Amino acid sequence: MFADALMPGPYQCYICDEEDLIGEDGLCDACRSKLKYYPSPVCSQPLDGIAIGLQYGEEIATAVLRFKKNDMREYGAFLAQYLSVPSEWKADILVPVPIHPLKLWLRHMQNHTETLAAYLSHATGIPYSTELLTKTRFTGEQKKLRDPAQRRRNIRGSFSADPLVKGLRIVLIDDVFTTGATVYECARVLKQQGAKAVYLSAVTSPPH
Ligand SMILES: [Zn+2]
Repeated sequence: MFADALMPGPYQCYICDEEDLIGEDGLCDACRSKLKYYPSPVCSQPLDGIAIGLQYGEEIATAVLRFKKNDMREYGAFLAQYLSVPSEWKADILVPVPIHPLKLWLRHMQNHTETLAAYLSHATGIPYSTELLTKTRFTGEQKKLRDPAQRRRNIRGSFSADPLVKGLRIVLIDDVFTTGATVYECARVLKQQGAKAVYLSAVTSPPH
């Protein structure tokens, strides 16, 4: 469904840079055959549902790294094709998992989850907003904390939701869903402000 936004040319595989036989998904047959779709994710409150495209592995990790570290925005279209919004969610709006303004500056002003949300919005017709949920406290890198309880403590109270979320069915957008501490905290804050339902759509996740 992202074919029109993909492959503006040169016709290279998004993962291995091979130039032959690239499909509409931007991949060569060899790389595509290594991707594994994610089995039904387990979800608990305050999240009301989770949709994950792919199991995290070497191939998708390469694409995510290029997207985030090398500022290759065209990878946003490639990765966003693995995001989905089930129709039964009856989503009102997409909300990218926010990053702190300082981190945004460190990343040369690219919020990668916003790029993903923009592509998904274009494909689904569901609007997206970066105003409804903001990061108000700089928390450093979650992945450097090994202990799940530590991660939860580190992130708690670091987001702020706008009262306009009241009654909305919201889909959080993220690239890699790992321990979930960040996303569950986002959902908690949104629900506190009266969001009717909060879901997560992520590109990839290690099996839980
Ligand atoms: Zn390839």
